[in-house]
Amino acid sequence: LKIQEYRPESFIDFTQADNVAAYQAALKKVRAELVGKHYPLIIDGVRVDTAEKLESINPCNTSEIVGSTAKATVDDAQKALDGAWKAFESWKKWTPDARARILLKASSLLKARRLEACALMSIEVGKNYAEADVEVAEAIDFLEYYARSAMKYSGFGAAETTWYAGEENGLMFMPIGVGVSISPWNFPCAIYLGMLAAPIVAGNCVIAKPAEDSGLIAGFVTDIMLEAGLPAGVLQFLPGVGEEVGEYLTTHAKTRFITFTGSRGVGLHINEVAAKVQPGQKWIKKVILELGGKDGMIVDETADIETAVTAAVQGAFGFNGQKCSAMSRLIVVDSVYDDVVGQFVERAGKLRVGTGEDNANVTAVVNEESFEKIGKYIGIGKGEAKLLLGGETPGEHGGKQGYYVQPTIFGDVPADARIAQEEIFGPVISVIRARDWDHALDIANSTEYGLTGGVCSRDRARLEQARHEFEAGNLYFNRKITGAIVGVQPFGGYNMSGTDSKAGGPDYLANFMQLKTVTERW
Ligand code: NAD
Repeated sequence: LKIQEYRPESFIDFTQADNVAAYQAALKKVRAELVGKHYPLIIDGVRVDTAEKLESINPCNTSEIVGSTAKATVDDAQKALDGAWKAFESWKKWTPDARARILLKASSLLKARRLEACALMSIEVGKNYAEADVEVAEAIDFLEYYARSAMKYSGFGAAETTWYAGEENGLMFMPIGVGVSISPWNFPCAIYLGMLAAPIVAGNCVIAKPAEDSGLIAGFVTDIMLEAGLPAGVLQFLPGVGEEVGEYLTTHAKTRFITFTGSRGVGLHINEVAAKVQPGQKWIKKVILELGGKDGMIVDETADIETAVTAAVQGAFGFNGQKCSAMSRLIVVDSVYDDVVGQFVERAGKLRVGTGEDNANVTAVVNEESFEKIGKYIGIGKGEAKLLLGGETPGEHGGKQGYYVQPTIFGDVPADARIAQEEIFGPVISVIRARDWDHALDIANSTEYGLTGGVCSRDRARLEQARHEFEAGNLYFNRKITGAIVGVQPFGGYNMSGTDSKAGGPDYLANFMQLKTVTERW
């Protein structure tokens, strides 16, 4: 397969009026063609409906049901598992090139429908134009990047071994079987697609279980994968409730691997149940976990304040702070604290709240559970620190009910306060005052998480120290700490943030393969 080198997709510039007009046209098209749609399960290539369904609610207007998916039962999960193992028998024999071609075809189909995918997410989860666009670009990048990665694992001798007299020795990468891919609602297109495309192109079969709040966009991209030519059973589409079908599949003896992105609590639970060997199980399950964060950015007295404040606003409030990589702790050294925090609060105060469809800076949070949880943490914050901005959860905007939370900033937050330690996953920021640089770095490393982190500083020695000592899987200097690009910034966290498996990185596919050394004596 001859293809040009991987290059990430560029983003659409929404300061251009024609791009905004194209987005609005896509919103109209999606409202006419996709809103109200129902996506059944897909088992062995056949669409199967269920007695019960899962509805997607527009978070920015909760009176609107965006559409629905089927709701799988454990019986459906069992059928999906059996069918996937059957499909594996032939899929594992496809060459990496042939499997890669399907991802490349899917990528070109998704490129052609890029704005539709974006618009659907604006309505289903409340993403504004740029947030939706960078996500669909990321989804395309995953397809393109993993397609190319697969080719390097091709054939006997794909991994290096040392020459030895009288023998031929070689290492082969082999697919491992059938796994379940369980994804969150916050990157419902890119993470959903990336987590199924990687194991599939490596020769495995996948049961994809999307999050309950974002089944439509998952159905949309699943259709694209099938249209691209995936054989029946290689990808089983199984929307359902995590605690039901998710639990069934993660504990099942015939599940070979689990790739999970979501919260720390659910991830650790999966890690535990997957470790328990079930009757009839003949392998140790592989578990790849990408979990939460409490990501901090340090601003020291040498930093360019304008750069730091821009990075803080973008990192904190992009998609309402609903990113595992979001900056939820701003750690500022005392001598510049007032200046930095003053400007941060002023800039955040100007953010426009509204709907994703109206391209607001801050939109509604995803669902009632999140809305309640964020409200609870704001209450806790009022008892722990000084409220500098926001602090209300109006629950409506422009006369429409929605899960609206004001951009909220707490100042002089003690480093060990609950709001500085626990993942809130909303537009609520803790600003922490550090005595000096050393204290700031200690504070940055004082949570059990280690996903993203950042330093705004012009001091070379400090940046070098942070490079080694700041505990984060993805560390950024003098820019925002969100927005990792596939292949450019392989993504994944340390400590309780996950198994550091680096999605969009050079070794990601190896998570879904096993190595066999074969020796022949001449
Ligand atoms: P969640 O843990 O509530 O749900 C994630 C998925 O797990 C959903 O599909 C859900 O149905 C399923 N699930 C729930 N209970 C289950 C069980 N017992 N067994 C199997 N599956 C089960 O997370 P969420 O609210 O959808 O997503 C937000 C979280 O995801 C945040 O903590 C965020 O930091 C994290 N996240 C991490 C990354 C990363 O790359 N590290 C990326 C995005 C989101």
